[in-house]
Amino acid sequence: MPILVMKFGGTSVATLDRIRRAAKRVGREVANGYDVIVIVSAMSGKTNELVGWVEETSHLFDAREYDAVVSSGEQVTAGLMALTLQEMDVPARSWQGWQVPLLTTSAHSAARIVDIPTENIAAKFGEGMRVAVVAGFQGISPEGRITTLGRGGSDTTAVAFAAAFGAERCDIYTDVDGVYTTDPRVSTKARKLDRIAFEEMLELASLGAKVLQTRSVELAMRYKVRLRVLSSFEDNDEHAGTLVCDEEDIVESNVVAGVAFSRDEAKMTLISVADRPGIAAAIFGPLSEAGVNVDMIVQNISEEGRTDMTFSCPTDQVKRAQVAMTAAKDSGEINYHELVADTDVAKVSVVGIGMRSHAGVAAKMFEALSREGINIKVITTSEIKISVLIDRKYLELAVQTLHDAFELERAS
Ligand code: ADP
Ligand code: ASP
Ligand code: MG
Repeated sequence: MPILVMKFGGTSVATLDRIRRAAKRVGREVANGYDVIVIVSAMSGKTNELVGWVEETSHLFDAREYDAVVSSGEQVTAGLMALTLQEMDVPARSWQGWQVPLLTTSAHSAARIVDIPTENIAAKFGEGMRVAVVAGFQGISPEGRITTLGRGGSDTTAVAFAAAFGAERCDIYTDVDGVYTTDPRVSTKARKLDRIAFEEMLELASLGAKVLQTRSVELAMRYKVRLRVLSSFEDNDEHAGTLVCDEEDIVESNVVAGVAFSRDEAKMTLISVADRPGIAAAIFGPLSEAGVNVDMIVQNISEEGRTDMTFSCPTDQVKRAQVAMTAAKDSGEINYHELVADTDVAKVSVVGIGMRSHAGVAAKMFEALSREGINIKVITTSEIKISVLIDRKYLELAVQTLHDAFELERAS
């Protein structure tokens, strides 16, 4: 039988009632003749609570135990979903990551999927099981420890299963009815897109649009998975939601496809470091070993052989960065005057494949921000995106301003 992957995010399984509604959708697809792989997230708010408990218990926690704790949310919803389906007379059972097994690397809290052997689940489908409910976000390392795939990782579980089982489609059910030109919770003018190119979705996701985890888009692009984002609260027909697809399958598009943002950024500046060969390696080597994901980097002009080095990283990694830099200073690897952390910044980005062939997007972006008196602290660009770091208090204003400036409320 053809296989369909259906993923339900946290808000879609937030209560027993919502689990029942989701199960009904699954039941309809079973009646349509599909064998279904359901991927579930933890109930909304659960993972945050679990992460909070870990952080409260231990500041620089052992990531293996973090994974043991935070993976538990999905175990609960997988079992409840399977029970709900059974109550509806749909043959279903739950699977935790290690039972599948979903094999990952040992990079705890940010593990990568290595392989999903299909035999166990396929055998059960062969015996008449119609729905495999799989706990999202989790797997097992070569050492036999439970791993998790990073926040939002159930999306990646879903796409990886769709690829492994050759599913007809991977439907991501969430609390919005598709991918919008920007987060509809921030701009009421945000417009739902019927289609978006993989590359644009990849950039939007990696720049903060959490509607899909970045890695899920990468996998869908690589394995040509038909990926759809749609609402678990509305009735959907076959054209509902947003299809993430190849660039060639989109007839017309705006130069800028969307505006993404990330609130949780910090700007760190090492004041007065020696400007000599090897200094960047001496700074960013230890940061990477400490698990700090450095994003933007700016080295200022140097005076008398010393310079300021600025970088950005997620706010929750500031402590790790400070510890790593202090250790590097104490061991004599680097020498700096002071490490200043500015945790009140945010990153706003415009994304669009049209930027490859259209000049002037950066100028328009900077002008629009300057008209609102928003100061730009750091800028980075790539072929299809421009990102700026600004004061967090201007974030919503910046998103609205850019959405207006690029006329995103109108389809081209
Ligand atoms: P789930 O729990 O279903 O995985 P998430 O909260 O992870 O849901 O992702 C859905 C949320 O992503 C939406 O509620 C919305 O606020 C946010 N979002 C951010 N950017 C976008 C965008 N461009 N289009 C749609 N939703 C977006
Ligand atoms: N429950 C996990 C999280 O909140 C994974 C997910 O929902 O995708 O990050
Ligand atoms: Mg999510």
